[in-house]
Formats: sequence, structure tokens, C-alpha cells
Amino acid sequence: MKRLAILGATGSIGTQTLQVVDAFPGQFEVVILAGHSNWQLLLQQAEKYHPACIVVTEPTAYEKLKQENRDPGCAVLCGMQGVLSALDTYQIDMLVGAMSGAAGIEPTLKALEMGIDLALANKETLVAGGDLVRKAQQKSGAKILPVDSEHSAIFQCIEPGSKCLNKILLTASGGPFRTWDKEALYQVTPAQALKHPNWSMGQKITIDSATLMNKGLEVIEANWLFGVDYDNIQVLVHPQSIIHSMVEYGDGTVLAHLGKADMRIPIQYALTWPERAANPFPKLDFTKLAGLEFFDPDYDKFPALALAFQAGRTGKSAPAVLNGANEIAVAAFLKEQIGFMDIPALVGWVVEQHNPVEIESFAHLLEIDRWARNQAELFVKNHKK
Ligand code: NAD
Ligand code: MG
Repeated sequence: MKRLAILGATGSIGTQTLQVVDAFPGQFEVVILAGHSNWQLLLQQAEKYHPACIVVTEPTAYEKLKQENRDPGCAVLCGMQGVLSALDTYQIDMLVGAMSGAAGIEPTLKALEMGIDLALANKETLVAGGDLVRKAQQKSGAKILPVDSEHSAIFQCIEPGSKCLNKILLTASGGPFRTWDKEALYQVTPAQALKHPNWSMGQKITIDSATLMNKGLEVIEANWLFGVDYDNIQVLVHPQSIIHSMVEYGDGTVLAHLGKADMRIPIQYALTWPERAANPFPKLDFTKLAGLEFFDPDYDKFPALALAFQAGRTGKSAPAVLNGANEIAVAAFLKEQIGFMDIPALVGWVVEQHNPVEIESFAHLLEIDRWARNQAELFVKNHKK
């Protein structure tokens, strides 16, 4: 049985990971479950999966769970410190990194340093801490299995050892505003941006998908995971989300990964790799597919994508600053403190003021992240809608 720690267990990826666990009885043992504020769901999950430990990372939610006086039948820990100490205490074979945002960086780095394999959904970790992640991984030899659907697709299309890879074709649905005029984007409301055409996901990534920042973060993620230069990563808008990404080889061959827009498929592949196992989830019916379309992205309408390419090419601390600023921008947009097009404006403004430096350590990364967030807060404070 593969012993799992699922961080972000109460979220979209976390709950779908547990559905994969359900689909393979006897193959996975859930040892650690961590969630932030939804302590009620975490408690239900503890009652169903009997982990050794649950961690509530948000302190007031932890207090509420304690006051409930319901025995979860396992240890209950609090905060990020609780996550780190659970990783020290309980033996696991794989960590599922499904927290949202930069909160995932510290436990991910720790797991890699301990030599624990990683099923990685939390792309912000690679974007902000790519260099630290790579060093920790190289030292311990732990594996990173991508969960992000595009990266899972690329991982499956890359022929090990091939010297003839030309480029990655990273597909994007284009989000809910693909066909809107630029002027209309200034009036977008959070409710409109939270309606993704093809995927049901957490709020942060749904807004990132609407601005195309998500695709930008994925470009940086692909650069770290596969070592492919930015010049050889092409974003391709594909509204049907059937092809999850492609790889082009020098002989003209293109390998594509197709499947339903169902995150349980890439989650499962990360959990069972190198095996491919039959599951009961719905399959593609080609006779019911409308035509597959492909377009270049509109960088003028979606400046976040260009900002991410630029930060990726700059390297050093630039992607960490882009990521930290974007997290504040998305939160401010959801609170209606700034408009939709202010998200890339804010991120661009913060990145412009930053002088990129090599990231020396996790503490250094935290400092840079904090600086980016403070600058972003300043933008929000001075902003008049
Ligand atoms: P979500 O908002 O549904 O869930 C996030 C999880 O993280 C929750 O369990 C929450 O309790 C936890 N969390 C939130 N803030 C936290 C904090 N400060 N400290 C600790 N835990 C915290 O998000 P999601 O859609 O499941 O996305 C999770 C990650 O997976 C993100 O990095 C996202 O980019 C990535 N991802 C998601 C999808 C998807 O389909 N949902 C696809 C690809 C990649
Ligand atoms: Mg993705």
C-alpha cells in the first residue's frame, strides 16, 4: 500500500485525490490529511479514511474543531508547524501537494529534502521556488510527478532520453473571456470570472485561468519540470480542452495527450506511476466531439501571460515576485478592491520595481515573497476603482 499525505485535502484537487483513492481499494493508505479552514470536511474525511493525523492549518478553524468535542480517531495538529511535524512523525511514500498558493512551498521542500516523492498540483511552489525545489530534489533523488493536467500530458508525451525534442505545445482553454472585447474586460465581475467553461477548480486558479496568468505560471512550471527553454514553449489556445498538451519532435512527429477534462486522470497517473491502471471514470467518446480548434493567445487582451514569460526569462527571483504579487491581486479582485484588468497592471507594476536576485534559501524566498506582497498591498491601497 502506498502511504499518502494529502496537503490541501479539502480543496478541489484534494477531494478528487480522495476519489482516486476510493477507486483503488487496498492500494493507498491515507496517513496525513491537511486542510486550512474547512475543519468540518476535514473531520468527515478523518472519519472515513482513518488517517494517523489531520492538520488544520488555520488556527481559528483548529480551535473550532477542538471545541466540537468530536473524536476524529487520530492526532490533530495545527498550523504549518503541524504539517512539518506530521511529516517528521509519520512515514509516508508520497506527498500530494494540493494546497493553493505559496503556502505549499515549505512542506513541499521539506518532503523533497526527506526524499519523499511528490505528486505536485501546487504550481506556485515551482514558480516561486523552482531553484530550491530542484536543489532539494537533486540532493535526495525524490521524484516529482506532475498533477497539473498539461504537465501530466507533457510528461507522458516526452520520450525518455530523446535528444530530438523541438518544443512543447502547452494548451489553454482561453478562459471565460476568450471571445470578449478588451474594453469589456475592464468591467468583469468576480462572479463572471469564477465561471470557468471547462473545469471546476478552486477560486485562485479559476481567476488565474480567466486572466491567463494560470497559463503563464504553467509556462514557468514546464520550464522547471522539463528543462525546455522559454523560446520552445508555445502556448496554444484550444477551447475544447480535449488535448491536454503536445510535444513536437525534430522529425515532425507531434505526440498529443487527449482525454476528458477530468483532473482525477492526471492525479491518478501521478499516484500510480509508472503503472497505468484502469479506472471507472467516464471515457472520451470521439463521435460526440465537436471540432478541435487552436489559436494563438491574445497577449494584448491578456497581458498576464506576457508578464509571466518575461519573469520566467528573467529568472532568479522575478517569478517569485510575479507569483506573490498575483496572489494579492487575485484576492483584492475577489474582494472587489481592484478591477479585472488591474490584476496584470498590479503584477506588472510590482515586477518592474524589483531588482532580481538569486534566491539563496527558503528564508530568503520568504523575504522576497513578503516584499512582493507588501508592494502589491500598496498598489491596492492607493488604487481608486
Ligand atoms: P482549492 O482552493 O480548491 O483548495 C486549496 C486547498 O489548500 C484547500 O484544502 C485549502 O484548505 C488549502 N489551503 C488554502 N490556503 C492555505 C494556506 N494558507 N495554508 C495551507 N493550506 C491552505 O484549490 P485547488 O483548485 O484544489 O488548487 C490547489 C492547487 O492545485 C493550486 O496550486 C492549483 O494551482 C493547483 N491545480 C489545481 C487544479 C484544479 O483543477 N483544481 C488543476 C491544476 C493545478
Ligand atoms: Mg493546468
